[in-house]
Amino acid sequence: MADLHDMTVAELAAGLKQRDFSAVELAKRFLARMGGNPHNAFLDIDSEVTLAQATASDQKIADGTAGPLEGVPIAHKDIFVTREFATTAGSHMLKNYRSPFDATVVQRLREAGMVSLGKLNCDEFAMGSANENSAYGAVTNPWDTTRIPGGSSGGSAAAVAARLAPAATGTDTGGSIRQPAAFCGITGIKPTYGRASRYGMVAFASSLDQAGPMARSAEDCALLLSAMCGPDLDRDSTSLNVANEDFSRLLVLPASDKPLAKAGKDGSALRIGVPDHWLAWEEGHASAQVDGCSPAVRVAIQNALHAYEQLGAVVQSIPLPHTQLSIPVYYIVCAAEASSNLSRFDGVKFGHRAKEFSDLADMYQRTRSEGFGDEVKRRIMIGSYVLSHGYYDAYYLQAQKIRRLIADGFQTAFAQCDVIAGPVAPTTAWKLGDKANDPVANYLADIFTLPASLAGLPCMSIPVGLGDTGLPVGLQLIGNYLQEASLLNLAHRFQQVTQHHLAKPEGV
Ligand code: GLN
Repeated sequence: MADLHDMTVAELAAGLKQRDFSAVELAKRFLARMGGNPHNAFLDIDSEVTLAQATASDQKIADGTAGPLEGVPIAHKDIFVTREFATTAGSHMLKNYRSPFDATVVQRLREAGMVSLGKLNCDEFAMGSANENSAYGAVTNPWDTTRIPGGSSGGSAAAVAARLAPAATGTDTGGSIRQPAAFCGITGIKPTYGRASRYGMVAFASSLDQAGPMARSAEDCALLLSAMCGPDLDRDSTSLNVANEDFSRLLVLPASDKPLAKAGKDGSALRIGVPDHWLAWEEGHASAQVDGCSPAVRVAIQNALHAYEQLGAVVQSIPLPHTQLSIPVYYIVCAAEASSNLSRFDGVKFGHRAKEFSDLADMYQRTRSEGFGDEVKRRIMIGSYVLSHGYYDAYYLQAQKIRRLIADGFQTAFAQCDVIAGPVAPTTAWKLGDKANDPVANYLADIFTLPASLAGLPCMSIPVGLGDTGLPVGLQLIGNYLQEASLLNLAHRFQQVTQHHLAKPEGV
């Protein structure tokens, strides 16, 4: 039997059911590994709470009332509110804040039996691409501790890569599940917007925010996604009114020789489209306007696409117009929504309040000046600007129109291919501090993750090898609306014939 902390969610769930080990034993193992808080991945740990949940899970296993993931540990990004752990959203504004309720996602995972290991570091209010915007310090990348783990779900990715937790929740507004998953060599999926409830997720940009799992394999992500999604119509007005699915139902077990075909159609080969200005695929095609990827990323992605050809898929270049405008569009839309969402942090209802002030306006001002970090303030200012009279039409409305064009462009593309593939990020993880004082450099690194977010499409990242510096590279897979199960199967097929997802950082 593999080391407990090296086992996947699927293996742990099976081992617990067979009583190979207990939930308490498992929780203790991870709590021990979390001691000293490696990589600064955790923001709140409470072994009493974790062990109490594990004990209850062992009881359920003994009673025969266990949930599908009973006793399997998970840690939550500190964007999800939790009753039993503090919730800070990586901000001083919410230091020591305790929610009176659990986020729907947290509650559902607990109902499925999962035991919470605590809360994970992240960029303040999920704004960032490097986890350097956390008020509680940066997280380090387990593959190279002089580097960033990616963001904003950096604590989640580092914890899973370092085997501090077998799985974690993340949130993705513009790439925050996919990019840290790519940088830390793990697997993560953002479902279709509206699949997972936003209730109890500290809001950043409500039309984009979406929760998803981060784990070591597509199979694990499928199990976790099945437990966390589903309608929550009374509590989230953008929750999709579609029945939840078993997202692992299409996973082909064991490995199959059948060529990759379109799901449920005529059995013809699956077509993977590679946007021509994201990555040069066909020789000479669109190479003039390509692509800004580092050679290490380009080679790893091209190799992965060749592996898909071996599996029977047809890989072809496709146009995907307007996606190069994703950066300005996203940073207008998300700032606008953030400026509105974050107006609730005024020192009155909850969170930080300035100690000294002269009157109400002064209290608001001091509270927000003290409570928010630089990046959050920057976005509130940009957001207020683009929504203000006289600028609304010029910026916000234009951005919304282009957002629509981007979404339409994907639908045109999906007439030509079944899945879209490309890089997650132009480079591998950069050095801590390299872009810390350069917000625009951080924004530019989001070029490949923003389009699917703006369109609300399901998308994921899977590890496809180590670049020349020995750092993980992620392949992005984007499906059409509600196609998570096919996407997960596609990732799973790749993981059945390759080893990249099994690679782990030295010493872990
Ligand atoms: N890097 C992007 C940003 O800073 C995405 C963040 C996210 O997905 N939460 O906004």
